[in-house]
Amino acid sequence: MNKLPQIDNASHKNILIIGYGISGKSAYGFLKKKGHNVYVFDDANLGEIPDKITVVDWEKIDFVVKSPSVPILEHNRHKIIKQAFENNKPVVSTFDIFRLYNPKAKIIAVTGTNGKSTTTALTYHILKEAGFSVCLGGNIGFPYFDLEQTEWYVFEMSSYELASSQYLDFEVACVLNIEPDHMEFHGSFENYAKAKHEALEHAKLRIISYEDKLTMNKYRNADNTLTVSMEYNDDADVYVYERTLRDKNSKELILDLAGILNLRGKHNYQNIGFAYSICNKLGAPTKEILKSIQSFKPLPHRMNIVRKIKNTIFVNDSKATNPSSAATALATFVGYKIYWLVGGRSKKIDPMPYVKNYMAEVRKIYLFGEATDEYEKAFNGVKNTVRCGTMTSALNSAFKDASKEPGPSAILLSPMCASFDQFKDYEHRGEEFVKMANAINQQ
Ligand code: ADP
Repeated sequence: MNKLPQIDNASHKNILIIGYGISGKSAYGFLKKKGHNVYVFDDANLGEIPDKITVVDWEKIDFVVKSPSVPILEHNRHKIIKQAFENNKPVVSTFDIFRLYNPKAKIIAVTGTNGKSTTTALTYHILKEAGFSVCLGGNIGFPYFDLEQTEWYVFEMSSYELASSQYLDFEVACVLNIEPDHMEFHGSFENYAKAKHEALEHAKLRIISYEDKLTMNKYRNADNTLTVSMEYNDDADVYVYERTLRDKNSKELILDLAGILNLRGKHNYQNIGFAYSICNKLGAPTKEILKSIQSFKPLPHRMNIVRKIKNTIFVNDSKATNPSSAATALATFVGYKIYWLVGGRSKKIDPMPYVKNYMAEVRKIYLFGEATDEYEKAFNGVKNTVRCGTMTSALNSAFKDASKEPGPSAILLSPMCASFDQFKDYEHRGEEFVKMANAINQQ
């Protein structure tokens, strides 16, 4: 990749932003305010885009800022990034721009395939309650340039940003787990894992998961590295023993996990273990950490029980957009008869290695959206599937079936897919699910 451009407040540059979504829009407003000439290129023709260009005059451009999801890697590089490289123009990420303007910011980077948002939000909540000057941003939905100036920043870092940034520099970086996802952007699992590891390569303190063999093999003996296990592994720095969180370096019993009702499931032990490790390292008192974990309000669309009718619960897990995250939901609702809503735009990942151990609990799978054919094939001979077309029809059929059997039952939207074929985003999909669940007349 090309060298980072030099920007200072005195010089006015000609900057091309590719992509005018949440991040691109925020970067546009910021760079304009700083007095630069800013142009925007966006493939989609959605809405009003200021300073939009469709053909780039490269003579006039000093450098390019790309929005996170714009593909930059060789196998499917965006045509405008190709042109930028041919014209020897630097291409940087929105994170790089934040870094250039905030060289002193102390950043905690949280990444991984699943659990990023929960761990990021939980860490922020604990630090804030403990009196730190801190804000929350990145992929969690708060773009860098909309944030207030604080001493600490807790950033959810996507693999897209990690693969596209040249100025990564973190006080703490965490990799929660690495499972196949986002293949269309990265081209291979190796590239995806490499992007996640970039966070660790540029961190003063690394926190890694004992269960993530790939990362353990590479970093377990590296300097300044802590390990967190969600099981009983007392050679990890932080681990779980009989449903209590333990810290190898502390005599205190850290946390009785059985009493934590706002963060259900074993996967949340991992999220709690990471958040605890970060905040403990930063000097937050253990008692304060515990209190804040208990007062944390879970994020929406992540295994939220949104309604109960008799013995049937409705679970909105719309954020489970890949097979490994759906598997954690199936594991969490062991003991329920599961009526599982699956579908959307496929990530082209075979679900069976992830979900096969939990299929006994599943009564039927209700398919909707683009991935219907693919999942019908994948579950053929394993479990009954029914083609529903839409999520509404899937929910109605599932409820009808659940009502015929004694409970406890769970109607679980844990779709393993992106939402863009039928919804604006996963939040829209989750909101629709909640609306539909609430609209059911209780008999
Ligand atoms: P991300 O931001 O990485 O997508 P979230 O915290 O938003 O992660 O959680 C998304 C979904 O992933 C949740 O609904 C849950 O099903 C699953 N999940 C959350 N934390 C973990 C974890 N540590 N390991 C595996 N799956 C998880």
